[in-house]
Amino acid sequence: MTTLTHPTEAAELLVVRARGAPRERGRQIGEAAAPLIQRMLATYRELIESSQARLKLSWAAAVIQARKYASYAAGRYMEELTGMADGAGATLDDLLVLNCAEALVSDPPPLKCTSLALGPEWTEDRHVLLAHNEDWWPQDEHTLYLIHAEPEREPPFLALTYGGLLPCIGLNAAGLAQCCDSVYPTDSRVGVPRAFVARSVLGASDLAEAASRAAHPDREAGYNHLVINQEGDILSLEASALRHAVLPDQAGALVHTNHYLDPGMREIETDPEGLTRSRLRYDRASELLYDGRPHSRASLARILADHQNSPSSICSHPQEFRDPLDQYATIASVIVDLSEMTLHVAPGRPCSSSFRSYSM
Ligand SMILES: [Zn+2]
Repeated sequence: MTTLTHPTEAAELLVVRARGAPRERGRQIGEAAAPLIQRMLATYRELIESSQARLKLSWAAAVIQARKYASYAAGRYMEELTGMADGAGATLDDLLVLNCAEALVSDPPPLKCTSLALGPEWTEDRHVLLAHNEDWWPQDEHTLYLIHAEPEREPPFLALTYGGLLPCIGLNAAGLAQCCDSVYPTDSRVGVPRAFVARSVLGASDLAEAASRAAHPDREAGYNHLVINQEGDILSLEASALRHAVLPDQAGALVHTNHYLDPGMREIETDPEGLTRSRLRYDRASELLYDGRPHSRASLARILADHQNSPSSICSHPQEFRDPLDQYATIASVIVDLSEMTLHVAPGRPCSSSFRSYSM
């Protein structure tokens, strides 16, 4: 791992190197990131316990629910998570709750993200770029770190994660990069947690394998998985528990936020206020993408920092008047340059943070 120089110093994130069999790899991650994992645990425990009346869920009840999901998630990623728990001095039950949080918090806050994928026709230097704002509970800004892993049977990867979550945002040595956007289907069920599905996509060797992993037949719900390869071919796969759709590539570039774009997927979408906010971000990101071409990492950083339609803007700031469960903010901006195999991360809000570069 080399850290490239950058004119403005951003907070340096912990980079955890991990290798070997899944459990051993997980243990290495858990040991190195133990304070961050413990901090997320304390935060989520407090969020759930303090919202018991609204969620009708205690931490103990969340553990029981998470175990049901976990019974569908055996295999190497469960081993990895078991190792993370061991290394961090936590229980597997605790980390299962973190990785099932989106399913367990059935009164979902308007968590949101914005993603853009650009093939070579759209960039100044013909680089292939993927840009993403990770919008989540604001407290998670303090538990960010990077994992550079060399699994035994999958391509090495470099990914951003936070707390005790399995990594899913990043790039791998097969030349794939992924980011995920939450979506809101009505057909969710007990099944393989979406965090495990997203983690498995990060281990794919090509777009076809990424698509088949994203469409795991036993998944509990789904994300939009936005995946791009070094040629600039884009896979945007919208999933729910029972349906999925692959979006047509819009001439080599694609934007996604948190509402379904495929007509068939829209039939099973819930329609809370949060999706209007998602449409505003989608329209704004699309406008900036089309009007601003050709793009560079710098222009994508400006898109990720855009404030139009605030508080429903692409760069999202914490709104502390909201109930803690309903608070959200951009906790990190990520730009992957697949032509250079580099990952650029701005912790916190990109309007006031700066990007630091990491290479595989
Ligand atoms: Zn901002």
